[in-house]
Amino acid sequence: MGIIGRIRTFFANLLPKKEYPLYETCAFCGERSYLPFHCEFCNQYFCDRHRLPFDHACKNLNAWKKRPAGNTHSTNGKK
Ligand SMILES: [Zn+2]
Ligand SMILES: [Zn+2]
Repeated sequence: MGIIGRIRTFFANLLPKKEYPLYETCAFCGERSYLPFHCEFCNQYFCDRHRLPFDHACKNLNAWKKRPAGNTHSTNGKK
């Protein structure tokens, strides 16, 4: 067993920890959505139509606007 085994263990450990709801209610319109979108700026879940910060009047819309395009997934530990 070399590096492959270690990588497999690494990912096996990662997967169960990731708590992502299959179904969640959109915090904006209340619609139940399959595989909802998570907004990292207000920490809520939204449906397909309201996934973007300006679509759900995100309370941290300004923080989102300041972010460079294409880098919306990195939080850099800022809570
Ligand atoms: Zn919605
Ligand atoms: Zn938001």
